[in-house]
Amino acid sequence: MVDHGPRSGNRVALTFDADMTDGMLRNLRAGRVTSYANLRIIELLEREQVPATFFLTGKWVERYPDLTRRLADNPRFELANHTYGHLAYTGDCYDLPRVPAKGMTEDAAKTFEVIKPYGGRQTRYFRFPGLCHDAAALAALAPLGVTVVDGDVVSGDPFATAWEPLVRAVLDNVRPGSVVIMHVTEANARMTDEAMPHILAGLRERGLVPASLSEVLAGA
Ligand SMILES: [Zn+2]
Repeated sequence: MVDHGPRSGNRVALTFDADMTDGMLRNLRAGRVTSYANLRIIELLEREQVPATFFLTGKWVERYPDLTRRLADNPRFELANHTYGHLAYTGDCYDLPRVPAKGMTEDAAKTFEVIKPYGGRQTRYFRFPGLCHDAAALAALAPLGVTVVDGDVVSGDPFATAWEPLVRAVLDNVRPGSVVIMHVTEANARMTDEAMPHILAGLRERGLVPASLSEVLAGA
């Protein structure tokens, strides 16, 4: 389990979670929500050639196959696992419904299978929904050979109503080796794309350079 890479050097990892639950799928189908995929973030990263790592839920991949292909085809992007349907792996994790205790290994394994056909820079990195984990959850994942990645800089972007606090939360806490947690879920994280240019500028001012998660954790 890791929160960050070595504190030497100047690299930091920008990570974006792509949550998708059954409730979110219902919102899309009913037209209550237009999108849980923030294209403006992806376009910015592409345009500025910024490396990033995407923690994908299986259900997000199934809902956005073309976008997943686009992420996989970018040599600067790494793909990682954020569970199949964003169910909690512990009993008390915000208001998330829980994956059955016996189903945790299968849930994570299935997600790798959903992501795998897209190719690109596949990883064995795994992030728990809500970062909620305990000994049983970690034991369930052990057979899969995953590295559990939390992160040491929480942007707080879910349901944010202004971009400035996100920029402050990131820039006040980021250091060499940091793993920054953000979301690419659009309707559930509306301010992230507005915060991104300021975050990138702030990193530059601090001499910090975005890199893929594997590079940051390796201290490369
Ligand atoms: Zn999540």
